[in-house]
Amino acid sequence: MINKAVVSDIPDDELKGKKVFVRVDFNVPIKDGRISEDYRIRRTVPTIDYLVEKGAKVILGSHLGRPKGRDLPGLSLRPIAFRLTELLGRDVKFSPKIIGKDVHYEVDNLNNGGVMLLENLRFHIEERNNDEEFAKELASLADIYVNDAFGTSHRAHASTYGMALHFEKKVAGFVVNKEIMFMSSMLMNPLKPYVVIVGGAKIKDKIGAMKNLMEKADKVLLGGGIAYTFLKAKDVPIGNSICEDEMVPWAKEALEKYGEKIFLPVDHVVAESFENRKTSIVVDNEIPDDYHGFDIGPKTMTKYSSLIKGNGTIFWNGPMGLFEDSDFSSGTTQIARSMALATWRGATTVIGGGDTISAMRNAEVLDLEITHISTGGGASLEFLGGSDLPGITVLNDKN
Ligand code: ADP
Ligand code: MG
Repeated sequence: MINKAVVSDIPDDELKGKKVFVRVDFNVPIKDGRISEDYRIRRTVPTIDYLVEKGAKVILGSHLGRPKGRDLPGLSLRPIAFRLTELLGRDVKFSPKIIGKDVHYEVDNLNNGGVMLLENLRFHIEERNNDEEFAKELASLADIYVNDAFGTSHRAHASTYGMALHFEKKVAGFVVNKEIMFMSSMLMNPLKPYVVIVGGAKIKDKIGAMKNLMEKADKVLLGGGIAYTFLKAKDVPIGNSICEDEMVPWAKEALEKYGEKIFLPVDHVVAESFENRKTSIVVDNEIPDDYHGFDIGPKTMTKYSSLIKGNGTIFWNGPMGLFEDSDFSSGTTQIARSMALATWRGATTVIGGGDTISAMRNAEVLDLEITHISTGGGASLEFLGGSDLPGITVLNDKN
């Protein structure tokens, strides 16, 4: 069981007046200086508030996009400092410099409870290279290190890993702690019955997670692109639907081992091609040669919804179809709404994956209708696959 020290484990008198570097995930969509979606920023408010209240000097660092070591004005974090000022109800300083004497000067001038945001860490190529000197420079800004960026914890970059090595006190923030709690519970001790729903494009992206989840789950509902590889393994005609031929043998094995708990689509919304959807129709099990399966059909939807009940745990990753197009979004929307109803009825519901979360929002399911929304993406899948995440492993254990 992963048991990492949390920011609230640090005694109050060890926080007061101390410089605390918090690695946050402010990788949010920004267009023309406007932030269209600030969920990741809002999530870090509790950690920042906590540190402010304890009189720490808070230095926030994040990446944004992929500037590849260049200073790209469109990827500046400056607009985020303004948004954060609104969210926190207090002034947030912005430092265009990340290392060097200017930023040290700014940090030294922070009051107890003051908050400062550094410019995009990836404006320095050394960030992604986990450059030793750069990591040391970053570390020299603070006395305590906090990781509150779960989504980048699977990367050993300077700010997620290298700099942490220089601290005696390195702990998880509240976002990371909550992710660790929920993700470990998905693997170790989910409330039963445990239903896992997996969809999306590729098995290969999630094979580690799928192996572990299939073993733990009582029921596994498959949909989306990955279902076709399983159907092919069962010799069900799938037409031109996406399929990972090289994964068919693994799917066969999984079906032999877990066959009685695996559920596969029994009908489909199909079209001749993405361009030609006038012909989009529903077919039962067998998909005609020239057709693609783009969504689960109504019988499958009804069956899956009936299995998403109001007790135990339900974990969902991966859309049930090509949900980006409204012709093929019904299956995914239905699953999202069933998840919300299950939460209201008392189940613990967890949703992970970038596309799955946007599908959930498309379906107008509210964040508060899901017990936990994991914004970890790749990091969540690696965690569920049992890999060590460097940004988590490096933190102090709880004592
Ligand atoms: P997440 O980001 O939530 O982990 P994935 O990235 O694994 O999800 O999968 C999402 C993608 O899978 C979407 O772009 C969606 O269009 C695609 N997809 C789902 N079902 C199908 C299908 N039947 N055919 C083609 N693409 C599909
Ligand atoms: Mg995705």
